Order: sequence, then structure tokens, then C-alpha cells
Amino acid sequence: MSRPAPALLTAVCCALAACAPTTDEATSVVVLAYQPELERYDRHVVQLHTIDDIVALKGSVAEVIGGAELDFDAATIDGLVGNAGSGVKADFIDVDGVLVPTDFHSLNMVTAYYNLERSALFFEGLGLNLIDYGQKTLYYFPSVTMFGEEAKDNAFFSAALNGFAVLPFDEFQTLPLAINLGIMGHEFTHSVFNYYVCDADTFCPLSDPTFTSNEAANVITSLDEGIADFMGAAIVCGESFDTCDPNFMAPSMPSAYASTRNLSRRRCISDGMEEMLRGDVNVFYNEGYAYILGTVLASSLWRAVEELGGTRDAWQQIIGGVINALGGDSSSGLRGLGQQELASGKQGVAIKEYADHLTLESALDAIAEQMSGNAKKVVCESFLDRFALTTRDLPECANYESAGECSSRSFGGAP
Ligand SMILES: [Zn+2]
Repeated sequence: MSRPAPALLTAVCCALAACAPTTDEATSVVVLAYQPELERYDRHVVQLHTIDDIVALKGSVAEVIGGAELDFDAATIDGLVGNAGSGVKADFIDVDGVLVPTDFHSLNMVTAYYNLERSALFFEGLGLNLIDYGQKTLYYFPSVTMFGEEAKDNAFFSAALNGFAVLPFDEFQTLPLAINLGIMGHEFTHSVFNYYVCDADTFCPLSDPTFTSNEAANVITSLDEGIADFMGAAIVCGESFDTCDPNFMAPSMPSAYASTRNLSRRRCISDGMEEMLRGDVNVFYNEGYAYILGTVLASSLWRAVEELGGTRDAWQQIIGGVINALGGDSSSGLRGLGQQELASGKQGVAIKEYADHLTLESALDAIAEQMSGNAKKVVCESFLDRFALTTRDLPECANYESAGECSSRSFGGAP
């Protein structure tokens, strides 16, 4: 595998030590960012607002760590981190007050930090308390063992690590994952989902399934992926919500795969998905069903935004409802449903097929419950249609009808 280049861990521009920025002033730095007028990613001067040490790429949102060795095949969480790695040293030159990365890894790392900061500030604007949420670790180009192999071409959030990882690339030779704002936004959303919906000690679906049923665990991983895709697209929108991209993965991934996650395409639940939902949780996730079902959710929410006119107000209505649905209290929202699962006292072994509380229907109804006015109408129309449900399944949608776009489902599903 390609290890971080020596430049990553050695040279530091001497000028920087004397002018290390304080936390209350922004740091101007060149990153790779999407430029709408050019219709591509290009070098761009941005401001970092949360960085404490630009050379070590350490700030209130994240600390970048290089050289770690992570083993996801380990039997215990203690065995997960074989080598914790160490701090990095990015290399910049100061050009009229703007820090310009001097090598690829410095550019890749500082852009990754910028993307996490953009995501964090996006969620802060929606009520996330960044102090409670805390600093995460960003493992940069770690050596990762997964399924007995050295993993590459991936980025992920791990609750067990309380952090993110961006892996070296192998077959992906286009835009690095760390530089893709939507992909880093997707990963950041996983951390927010985990923060709102899970209790780290007792209730964390991806790293430690403690659900009462396969169905509950499979539903939560699907919603986690779908909401991460939707929020990834929303983060790409920018403050004016005028650069939204339903196909934000395309610059970084083979088009055949990226198109399977394109939010703007009509996605209808496939026959047999209900059976898969009740099946083994590892099979469900590893075979990609969480992404398939998650994309039905993400595309439903994307359609809802479009039906509302695609405006900033439309986005904020739908995003706000989704955020409220994540938190909830002890009786509502996805967190509330999860807590009810735990309260039934059977957690610890995900062997029961059927869920008592946290089902696909109850989870979608909890999202619909947090929508109001026209937002509720268009979300219900999408859910009833794309998940092939009735108003008996979704009581919150009692006053609405299916959008009727998935009628070709029985002939193999819509594209
Ligand atoms: Zn994901």
C-alpha cells in the first residue's frame, strides 16, 4: 500500500511556527473545492474557523492522525487499534497571508479538515452543540484490515474509534475521497446520526448491534446510510443552497457505482426487501442492502425538496424535519424508537426476526411526524409511493396519497 509520503511527516515551513493562528481568527488556506463556475474541483482560498494548529491539522472539529494500523477483523474493540499512529505535519508556504500546501498529502489533508469543518458548521446551524459533540480523530491513510484484506478506496466513520478514516486509493484514481465534500459530509452525518440516535455504551447499531431484532438493526443501518446521502448532498448545496448535487459521488467513484447512489433518480423499494430486512444483519449490511434501501429514503427526501421548489426554504424544511426525527425524546423520533426497543428488555442478541417498535414503518412515520405543512405532504407522497406503504402503515400520512410514480414496481422496479 502507499504509505504517507515522507514529506507528510517531516518538513514544516519555518515561517509558520511564528504565526500560528489563534482560535478566534480565521486561517486562509488553499484547498481543493468544487467551483460551480468551472464545474469542477479546483484550488480555492477558504477560511478555516476551527483550526488550532494548522501544521498538525488539529482543531476543535478534528485532529488528523497518520500512520495508524486498524484491524476491523479483531475480535474485540481493544484489538481494533494495532498502532494508534501519530500527529501529522502538513507543509505550507505563506503567500501574502494565504497558506498554500506544498505537496499532495498536505493538500489532501487540509482539504479533508476543511470538509469536516464545513459539515460541522452545517450541523451547528441546525442545532448541534459542537462542544458536546466533541473533537473527532481523522485517521489519514491508515493501514486497515477488513475481511482479511488490506482495505483501500474507502472513507468511513467508526463509532468505536470515535473518528473517521480516509484510506489510500488503489483503483479510484480520480478525485480523492477526502477532497469530495459530499462524501466527507456523508461520513460526518454518520457521526451526527450516531450522536443523536445511539447511546455509545448501549445502543450503537453499526459497531455493536444490540437490537432486539434483525429488522430493527437493518432498518437503522439503512436509515443511517440514506440520511447520510441526503445530508451529504445538502452540505454540498452551500449557504445559498444553489450548488446542490444529487450525484456528488460521481467525481470520486466509477460512474456505474455512483449512479446507484444518485439521489435524483426515482428509487422504489424492491420486492423481497421486507424479507431481507428480517434476515441476518451482517449479510444485510455487507451485501449492500442498507445502501439500496437507504437510497430509497434519500431519493424520497430529494424528491420532496424538488416538489417544494428546490429553494433554500424547501431544503431547510426537509432538513429540519429529518434532524428533529433523529433526536426525538423518549417516545418519539428514531432515538425514541430505539430506546423503546431497549426497554423491551431483550437487547443483546439480534436474533428475533420481527421488531416490536423499530420497524421500517415506524421509523418512516417518525420522520413524517416531524414534517409540517407542504413538507409533510410531499414527504408522505414519496414515502407511501417509494416504500410501497399504505396510510395504515404510516398514520402520520393519513391525509395524503402516494405520488404514484412507482407503479411499474411489479414489472421489475423503476430505474
Ligand atoms: Zn455511509
